[in-house]
Amino acid sequence: MKDGQGRTIDYMRISITDRCNLRCRYCMPFGIDPLPLEDILCFEEIQAAAFCAAGLGIRHLKVTGGEPLVRRDCCRLVNMLKAVPGIEKVTITTNGVLLGQYLDQLEEAGIDGINVSLDTLDPERYRSLTGRDCLDSVLEALKRAAARIPSVKVNAVSLDLGQENWIGLTELAAQMPVDVRFIEMMPIGYGREFPALDHRVLLEEMGKRYPGMEEDHTQHGYGPAVYYRIPGFQGSIGFISAIHGKFCSSCNRVRLTSQGYLKTCLCYEDGTDLRAVLREGQKSGTGRGHYCWPEGLRPDDRELQKRLRAAFEEALMKKPAAHCFEDPAGITESGNMVSIGG
Ligand code: SAM
Ligand code: SF4
Repeated sequence: MKDGQGRTIDYMRISITDRCNLRCRYCMPFGIDPLPLEDILCFEEIQAAAFCAAGLGIRHLKVTGGEPLVRRDCCRLVNMLKAVPGIEKVTITTNGVLLGQYLDQLEEAGIDGINVSLDTLDPERYRSLTGRDCLDSVLEALKRAAARIPSVKVNAVSLDLGQENWIGLTELAAQMPVDVRFIEMMPIGYGREFPALDHRVLLEEMGKRYPGMEEDHTQHGYGPAVYYRIPGFQGSIGFISAIHGKFCSSCNRVRLTSQGYLKTCLCYEDGTDLRAVLREGQKSGTGRGHYCWPEGLRPDDRELQKRLRAAFEEALMKKPAAHCFEDPAGITESGNMVSIGG
């Protein structure tokens, strides 16, 4: 469907947990007070939201977190989302720590793509950035995934850690069939205080390092990345430059938080509480602290879908025209990336 600005909205990121097994310094360095489990959408609620989204034209779902693979049965949810009519692709973004353990199940569930977040290849830096010493297992899982899954990407937040850092990451695309994407740090949560790279500078330096690097206009996904090819590399290099390459006029996405809040722009609190719509008038209990989907109710129930659709459409009509990251005083989002899902 079109939003209030006439943009086609066909992509939804779904955060399925606020928990994470890493402590990235720009995201959640000190952990969080985890939400009570009954406040988090159950799988049927997420599927009901996906039914509604698909009916409105969403075609691609990205499962995110926190760390999505720490949620029990995450792969079953992938399978449930794949079963939603109209959804063409279900992909996941993960820090890779549990990827080795779940790769087979993700593949069986029909995952269409995996993004692995990785900001450095230096073990000591990795430990200091994430709070854990597990770079080797992330790299091992990345290698295995690249050999089996149709679309594997590495996402690196562009930190100011010197040349070798971005060169090492870039060259992953030479060693295996993965796209490596650099993401400009956004002034959300702890990211506000973090020294970050300006992509105009990074791109210039990369161009000098890799003569023959040229823009790649082939379609790589559903996002705002601008891609380049480097001669001899298996994958491409992408730049997601929210600050120095603002792409709001072609924004195609909404976000569903783990608590069921449909967020229409990263920068602002605007959106709507789909959980209230999902649970309206429902008599259901909690089991072992989790919210239980009411027995006998189908996620595609006609009445429920009607209410969800109205809430969804209203929020989309009010989706802000553009972020204001360049003028942080206007940012109204007070949450951290870990609770939004990136
Ligand atoms: N835990 C998963 C992961 O790391 O891929 C999924 C959630 S994480 C919040 C999603 C992405 O957001 C990660 O690639 C992370 O690096 C990125 N991220 C976190 N804080 C950010 C910020 N302030 N600006 C830009 N990207 C950020
Ligand atoms: Fe966890 Fe991802 Fe945030 Fe790192 S970026 S702390 S892995 S949610």
